[in-house]
Amino acid sequence: MDFTLTEEQKMLKSMLRDFATKELEPVAAEIDEKAEFPAEQVKKIAELGLMGLTIPEEYGGEGKGMVDFCIAVEELARASAAAASYFRISLSLAIPPIAMFGTPEQKKRWLVPHAKGEKLACFGLTETGAGSDPAALETTATKKGNGYLLNGNKLFISIGAEADIATVFATLDKTQRHRGITAFVVEKGTPGFSVGKHENKMGFRGLSATELILQDCYVPEENRLGKEGEGFRVALQALDESRVTVGAEAVGIAQAAFEAAVAYAQERKQYGQRIANFQAIQWMLADMATQVEAARLLTLQAAFLHDRGLPYIKESAMAKLFASEISSFVTNKAIQIHGGYGYTRDYPVERFLRDAKLTEIYEGTSEMMRMTIARALVGKG
Ligand SMILES: Cc1cc2nc3c(=O)[nH]c(=O)nc-3n(C[C@H](O)[C@H](O)[C@H](O)COP(=O)(O)OP(=O)(O)OC[C@H]3O[C@@H](n4cnc5c(N)ncnc54)[C@H](O)[C@@H]3O)c2cc1C
Repeated sequence: MDFTLTEEQKMLKSMLRDFATKELEPVAAEIDEKAEFPAEQVKKIAELGLMGLTIPEEYGGEGKGMVDFCIAVEELARASAAAASYFRISLSLAIPPIAMFGTPEQKKRWLVPHAKGEKLACFGLTETGAGSDPAALETTATKKGNGYLLNGNKLFISIGAEADIATVFATLDKTQRHRGITAFVVEKGTPGFSVGKHENKMGFRGLSATELILQDCYVPEENRLGKEGEGFRVALQALDESRVTVGAEAVGIAQAAFEAAVAYAQERKQYGQRIANFQAIQWMLADMATQVEAARLLTLQAAFLHDRGLPYIKESAMAKLFASEISSFVTNKAIQIHGGYGYTRDYPVERFLRDAKLTEIYEGTSEMMRMTIARALVGKG
């Protein structure tokens, strides 16, 4: 397998490294501290045309593949995971249901403004009683005239506070479990659709995670994605794609922590010499570098398979599982190398650890990733 980036991909990486170093990194701590929507930074990301990176050209996007997407996510997440997440989540999780299951009219209506950077999207699957087991969701869709009345609450929805459109999942018949689920697009401002509780989170503090409330919210048939009862498939296919980008996000955070640790180890002196001279520190750095590189390759492999239309679900789960777990490991070691200073907010490494942890949880926990991988290995039985 050839992992050499094309000239165009190298240019994308280098352009985004420059952009993120200049525009995101200097304000990353402030974004974390304020825990507010980083509107200015998200606008700048959109101005680069990134919101249409993987959207087909006929709908105003660049029509790029998952490898390009991963390159972009890693570079932006390296500088500010929270600011980058608006781009990653909107494009990799909320948009795919429309891109994969939408009619040409639906794509024109929602993909085009997203590609222009005019609209953000969110993905509303999780509920109080339905996290790892989304088939247990209780939001109902009841047929009414030429549309549906949606009722229920979604929880922990990233970009929930700012999104202009939400892909939401509701059941037409709860007794049917996953077979009853249908996907809909709900636009901001639709009567009966509102944003509820904002979560006060450990990391990714600049990313909103909110409740979405649907109360007798009427959506016409034109807002249904795919067929009735097809929603579970819509959600799973979107998640398979987005997990590759969570891998890239986790790699970006780990890369930032690794670089910070190398710089600190070379600068900090104890016992009359730089701590980088101590074998204990060197071994930590060697393990960190190896793990970041392995996670990057696993993520690129999943993206490469995806872009060639080859089976990639197991590899997507492996990439997310491995990259998220090494991200927690690497960010933790980066704090260790910083000693007491690493435990303070004067240095970014404690933020990296708080951010890395989320990648082990959202879009399917590590336990769910192991289940997906194991199922591919030994079947369901
Ligand atoms: C900041 C943030 C942003 C999020 N963004 C979104 C979003 O945009 N859209 C969205 O729909 N959701 C979102 N989520 C929800 C997220 O996907 C869920 O939190 C996640 O899937 C886990 O569900 P849960 O929290 O209900 O945990 P649970 O499912 O209750 O899991 C609790 C623990 O039990 C384990 N567990 C559960 N079932 C099994 C099993 N069968 N075998 C072994 N272990 C098991 C889990 O791995 C975990 O360790 C977000 C969450 C957070 C924290």
